[in-house]
Amino acid sequence: MSVWAILVAAGRGERLGLEQPKAFAKLGEDPLLAEPLRRLDESDWIDRIVIVAPPGWEEPAILLAEELACSKVHACVPGGATRTDSVRAGIDEVPEDALVVLVHDAARPLLPEAVIERVLAPLTEGWDGAVPGLPVPDTLKRVSADGAVTETVARDALYTVQTPQAFPADVLRRAVASGAEATDCASLVEGLPFA
Ligand code: C5P
Repeated sequence: MSVWAILVAAGRGERLGLEQPKAFAKLGEDPLLAEPLRRLDESDWIDRIVIVAPPGWEEPAILLAEELACSKVHACVPGGATRTDSVRAGIDEVPEDALVVLVHDAARPLLPEAVIERVLAPLTEGWDGAVPGLPVPDTLKRVSADGAVTETVARDALYTVQTPQAFPADVLRRAVASGAEATDCASLVEGLPFA
């Protein structure tokens, strides 16, 4: 099975308030992007990697991959205005014969090899995608615009969903081609009409 990783790193990181994009903020000695890139490159499960860099930061991203001696980087492309646009730019670089695509946020640098393995495994059983999710540990309130609590929401069946997210390549291609927008790829796949 050929597994392609798309590492989306094109966010501006406005919430951080730095001059440079978040992917190039320092994590220890290196830019944040270095850690997930190194982990994907060293993963036994990943064959090739596409980096989606902040527009104008493609060259520093390629230099970083060279410094890290990454051997799996196939392309580095500029991202788009939204995360979904950036995933679209990444998947355009994935060849037609790729079987599986794993999408990972560069903003989540501490990517465990075991999680990569766990999201890939269900695809061999016919699932159209797999994502890591955590049960919500906090109490949830719905709050109106004026700050008043209007409801306490039952948290029993609620999960926060992260990356890496894995999909059969053709499923993800159809999902991003639908033109929909979402904060993660799984939401796009959930919106597909399945027979
Ligand atoms: O902004 P958000 O938290 O959704 O970002 C999640 C991931 O998507 C980050 O790694 C960020 O770099 C990436 N992203 C992107 N292109 C955008 C927005 C976000 O590649 N236009």
